[in-house]
Amino acid sequence: MAENTLKINAIVVQASQSGENDKILTLLSPEAGKLSVIAKGIRSLKHQSRNACGVLCYSSFVLKKIKDGFYSLVSAELSESFRTLSEDVVLLSYGAYFADLTRMCVQNGMEAAEEVRLLLNTLYVLCKKPQNAPLIKAVFEFKIMELCGIVPEFSPQCPCGKGGTHFCVSEGEIRCGEHKSHDAVLVNAPQIKICKYILESSLRDALFCEYDEKISVSLSALTEPFLAFHLGNLPNSLNYLHQIVKKIS
Ligand SMILES: [Zn+2]
Repeated sequence: MAENTLKINAIVVQASQSGENDKILTLLSPEAGKLSVIAKGIRSLKHQSRNACGVLCYSSFVLKKIKDGFYSLVSAELSESFRTLSEDVVLLSYGAYFADLTRMCVQNGMEAAEEVRLLLNTLYVLCKKPQNAPLIKAVFEFKIMELCGIVPEFSPQCPCGKGGTHFCVSEGEIRCGEHKSHDAVLVNAPQIKICKYILESSLRDALFCEYDEKISVSLSALTEPFLAFHLGNLPNSLNYLHQIVKKIS
């Protein structure tokens, strides 16, 4: 194989239109990390790799290097399309948010084996257990925090020994009403219990666990401010997800 040719497995996490018939894809590959790829003519119905280049497709790619981190598509063969997700607008919105958040957490030039594994496993379980989507979202968010090295602590008590009633976003810990930080949000015992379980469990156990739906939904009030504080912002696809969920409920 030519020196400037790269053969990798990767998931498409973003696809933006370019010119009349092209797309710029963002791929996350376990071994090669985050790559930008120009896919010439991919919007044509006749393009042979078209079905392997949609967002959330996990495919085997042959790429030609243009410069560091930037490639052009030679061919792509689909391995997994997560079709269940593309057939449901709510599930697709969850998937798009997971893909965007993963993309934000992988820096250029970094390997992404753990991040891609997390994303693929999360999408897989989302297809299998769509009714658990709010809990799967929380699991994904906590596990990506771990990969980014930002791990909150869910002790049932404030460091002073009193029972914890607030989750302090900037501190990433539980405190009592007296010692809470300015950005604290109210937290209850069932929320603390499931957050602790997710953080202490393997990805598989956490993704497949079952928990009260209302509490699962409420975890967004803890995970989202914490992620936003550490990442600076959250992807627009999260707003979109909230709108869609609100609309159908
Ligand atoms: Zn205290």
